[in-house]
Amino acid sequence: MRIDLHAHSAISDGTDTPAELVAEALRAGLDVVALTDHDTFDGLPEALAAGESLGVRVVPGVELSTEVAGRSVHLLGYGCHTDDPALLTELALIRRGRDGRIPAMLAILAELGMPLDPAVLARVSGSATSIGRPHLADALVVQGYVADRTEAFDRLLADDGPAFVPRYAAPLEPAIRLIHAAGGVAVLAHPWGRVSREVLPEHYLGALARDHGLDGIEVDHNDHDRATRASLREVARRHGLLATGSSDYHGTGKRDHGLGVNTTSQQVLAEIDARIARRGGH
Ligand code: AMP
Ligand code: MN
Ligand code: MN
Ligand code: MN
Repeated sequence: MRIDLHAHSAISDGTDTPAELVAEALRAGLDVVALTDHDTFDGLPEALAAGESLGVRVVPGVELSTEVAGRSVHLLGYGCHTDDPALLTELALIRRGRDGRIPAMLAILAELGMPLDPAVLARVSGSATSIGRPHLADALVVQGYVADRTEAFDRLLADDGPAFVPRYAAPLEPAIRLIHAAGGVAVLAHPWGRVSREVLPEHYLGALARDHGLDGIEVDHNDHDRATRASLREVARRHGLLATGSSDYHGTGKRDHGLGVNTTSQQVLAEIDARIARRGGH
C-alpha cells in the first residue's frame, strides 16, 4: 500500500484540477491520496468522485493556516465534516485574510517596479477559491519579472521578503479543537520546516499531544533533511504522536515534490481511520 497524505490541487496553490490530481496519483502508483488544499474543502467533491471511478482512495483533508506567536504553522485535518459550521466559519475568515492582503502586496510590487496586470493574476488564479502567494508568483513569472515560483519567493514573497504582507491565521490550539469537533484528525504539517521550527520545540509538541490531543506530526517531508526526520521520529515516539509522510504535491508549482516521494505507513493510516470513526468524522 502506497499512501500519500498531503497534496494540493488548483483549488488552492497546486496546478492540477482535483480530478487530474487523482489520475496523477494512480500513475504514481498510489493506493491512497489525501487532498489537503489550503483553507478550503472546495476540491473534495471532484476528487472523491474521481477516486471512486479510478479506484484510488481519496482521504478528505484540509491544510489549515494557523499561527503560534505570530509565526505561520500549517495544520492538516483529515476526515472533518465539511459542513461543520464552526470550522467553515474559521475557513472563511482565513480566506478573507488571504484575499485582503493581495491589494497591499500588489501595491508593494508596483512600487518595486513590478506592476501586475489584474487580468494576468485572475488568469493564473484560475479555479482557485483559496488565493495565496504562489498565484502572485505565477503572475510574476507570466509577466517576465522572475523565472519561477522559487525565484519569486526568494527575491520577493518569502516571510522575510520585501513584498510580504501578513494575513490572518487561526491560533493553533483552538484550531486543533475545531478539527476534533468536526470529527477529524489533526496532524502538524512539516513542523520543523523553515517557517515553524522555532515556535514548535519538542517540549511544545509534547504539550500539544498531552494537553490538546494533537494526533500526529508530519515526519517524512521534503522540507525536513535526514537528521531532522530522525529527530522528529523520536519526538513522535516519545510523545505518542502518529508519524506521517507525504509529498506536499503542488503539481508543477513545486520542484521535487512528486506524488509519493514520501509516504505514510498502512498502520498509521489505520489509526487515523479509527480515530475519525471514533469522533464521528468521515
Ligand atoms: P500563502 O498561502 O500565501 O501563505 O503562501 C504559502 C505557500 O507558498 C505555501 O503553501 C507553498 O505552497 C508556497 N511556498 C512557500 N515557499 C515557497 C518557495 N520558496 N517556493 C515555492 N513555493 C513556496
Ligand atoms: Mn501551498
Ligand atoms: Mn504547508
Ligand atoms: Mn501543503
